[in-house]
Amino acid sequence: MKHILIVGGGIGGLCTAVMLQKHGYHVQIFESSSSIKPVGAGLGVGSNALQALYEAGVGEQIEEKGNALHKMVFKNTVEICSIKWTLPYLPGNSG
Ligand SMILES: Cc1cc2nc3c(=O)[nH]c(=O)nc-3n(C[C@H](O)[C@H](O)[C@H](O)COP(=O)(O)OP(=O)(O)OC[C@H]3O[C@@H](n4cnc5c(N)ncnc54)[C@H](O)[C@@H]3O)c2cc1C
Repeated sequence: MKHILIVGGGIGGLCTAVMLQKHGYHVQIFESSSSIKPVGAGLGVGSNALQALYEAGVGEQIEEKGNALHKMVFKNTVEICSIKWTLPYLPGNSG
């Protein structure tokens, strides 16, 4: 079995590890941070990213925990609404 070392346990490193394991590789991740903590208020997942997460086997859990984004509004201190648009819901198999 081939052994692969990945430096960095961010979304890129973790997804790469999952996909390589699915293809029979033995993977080891090296992460410099001592703990993984949530950062920020939310994470936007694009439909192409969701498709990749389905391929990694975690798409359903992501959709269960998340909410579909139907509308985005950007506000500033001058205008009440500077940019606003409505988004179609794109399920996991699009992108
Ligand atoms: C404020 C903010 C908001 C964002 N919001 C979104 C969003 O809503 N949706 C979205 O899709 N993207 C968002 N992004 C972008 C997204 O976070 C990045 O594209 C994504 O995290 C990149 O993943 P990555 O695994 O390549 O890198 P990272 O997430 O940066 O992971 C790299 C990892 O490698 C580790 N590392 C670095 N050097 C070493 C080393 N020498 N040895 C060991 N470990 C090391 C780091 O500690 C880190 O854990 C946002 C980014 C920021 C800054």
